[in-house]
Amino acid sequence: MRQTASPTTATALPLSELYRRVERHIPPFEWPILADDIAAILELKNERNAVILAHNYQTPEIFHTVADIVGDSLALAREAARTDADIIMLAGVHFMAETAKLLNPGKTVLIPDLKAGCSLAASITAADIRLLRERYPSMPIVTYVNTSAAVKAESDICCTSSNAKKIVEALGAPRVIMLPDEYLARNTAAQTKVEIIAWKGHCEVHERFTAGDIRSLRESHPGITVLAHPECPPEVIAECDFSGATAAMADFVDKKRPPRVALLIECAMSDNVALQYPELEFVRPCNLCPHMKRITLPKIRRTLETMTHEVTVDPEIAERARHTVERMMAMG
Ligand code: SF4
Repeated sequence: MRQTASPTTATALPLSELYRRVERHIPPFEWPILADDIAAILELKNERNAVILAHNYQTPEIFHTVADIVGDSLALAREAARTDADIIMLAGVHFMAETAKLLNPGKTVLIPDLKAGCSLAASITAADIRLLRERYPSMPIVTYVNTSAAVKAESDICCTSSNAKKIVEALGAPRVIMLPDEYLARNTAAQTKVEIIAWKGHCEVHERFTAGDIRSLRESHPGITVLAHPECPPEVIAECDFSGATAAMADFVDKKRPPRVALLIECAMSDNVALQYPELEFVRPCNLCPHMKRITLPKIRRTLETMTHEVTVDPEIAERARHTVERMMAMG
């Protein structure tokens, strides 16, 4: 799966070439409507020296046409730290834009819709972390990147779904607090000797998958290979064939080429991977993330035109939050 691209790739391609990337997903009669916004966005990016970072859960018309850098939270954080563009547009949710701002304090970071939140990020506050510190004074706090900058600032280190086990073990402590995703914490605890104390946050997309869904899929689609994201409940992980973060799932499909496959993940991720492997049958029992779906081509265009929805972080909070993200990047 395409994980990163040069900042000029999409801009340098003619629209007809971009359509080829998505023609199996977007019917010809819809393309002219999208193409107008796409052409304007590509031009605006050049004019403003802007780069668009798109999460794997963005729809194919964003992911495969206007995005310069695509990937999961960790890949976007890493690439955000490397870009030399003046403006970073985050086609994703608010905590991702904050993370980009933490790593690029001197750049302008924009988001097309300030209401693009996340149920995990909303499940915990900085005050909650301070209370946990009082209750468990000597225990390290590992915080999933799906949190606000204020929560990161109160934590010891960040993690993503792809490096959670590595980070937890690298701390060398017998017990750690891992938050806010209860299921990621429990799924990580199942792979390590480190004792993990979890919070009760859940991803509203992944918590809806059940072990029964997998059994039904196996009955209705014999021979299917089922991949599940570690934000799914542990009983789902126990019944799937492979569990990993979005990049690991895409890698699994690329290497193993399962002829019939289902990705228990946000719908757009499945669509984006399917476009790259037309020879494979993708069964899509997916769930939509309402926050990711707030980001659309017209909103991206308007944001670049008006330079509105700039994401800022209080400098004192930003300094401490940046430390937790950079500590993770140094370790994992
Ligand atoms: S898919 Fe889940 S974790 Fe990702 S932004 Fe949506 S609610 Fe948050």
